[in-house]
Amino acid sequence: MDGEFCVVCGATDRPLTDGVCAECAADRTRLLSAPEHAVVVICPHCGARKVGAEWERSGASPLLTAEDLAPILRVPPEVGVRRVRWEETSATGTVRELVGVADVTFRGVEREAEVRLSVRTEHQTCPECSRKSGRYYTAVLQLRGGLEKPAEKSAALHARLDRTWSDLLGESRPDWRQAVSWVEELPEGYDVFFTQTLAARAVAKVAKQKFGARLKESATLFGRKDGQDIYRVTLCLRFPRPAAPSAVPERSRRVLEQ
Ligand SMILES: [Zn+2]
Ligand SMILES: [Zn+2]
Repeated sequence: MDGEFCVVCGATDRPLTDGVCAECAADRTRLLSAPEHAVVVICPHCGARKVGAEWERSGASPLLTAEDLAPILRVPPEVGVRRVRWEETSATGTVRELVGVADVTFRGVEREAEVRLSVRTEHQTCPECSRKSGRYYTAVLQLRGGLEKPAEKSAALHARLDRTWSDLLGESRPDWRQAVSWVEELPEGYDVFFTQTLAARAVAKVAKQKFGARLKESATLFGRKDGQDIYRVTLCLRFPRPAAPSAVPERSRRVLEQ
């Protein structure tokens, strides 16, 4: 780089982009900005956030957090945000004024950038919560034992189905879990009510493929809407009792069952 120098500060020992060193370029760049007014839509019941047309992060805190603020920031392509410290400067009703001080990097140069934000929190009940409050459902997943004789004792059956249901939820996508409206305990097992039939079918499929359950599906007509018949789907899952719950370790028992 003989003879080349930053056209702003004259430094000769630094890499240049368009004739300007990174330090000088950082001084002349708006490293961080935000829209003047932002709105965060939160479901007060489950904490889900409305992002565009979708609801996300069900189960999150119903209070405004740093996680809500980060996506509001406008970050230029060459800037990396490492950390933002937020401070509330004022709050009136649902509007909060905040100042964020961010540690950013720009072409390898570390800087601090300040950004001001006015955020309004709006509370809206998400579709899942409004459906659940009306005990609305489109599908029921019946969790039952196998048909082996002698029949399993009720307590053992419920303990086993309870465990299986937790395992099954662990294998389920978040949007399937979100479609679970409520669970009812019955002498013969559990009924799980879903607000979305596709989600119930997806969970049933996993039960069949990964947990060896037998599946029977039936539908019942329960009304008409806009000239269309509406059906509720019943998915009956039978989980056969594992053969002789002996001292075989959990791991090898799973392999045997496959
Ligand atoms: Zn310079
Ligand atoms: Zn909700």
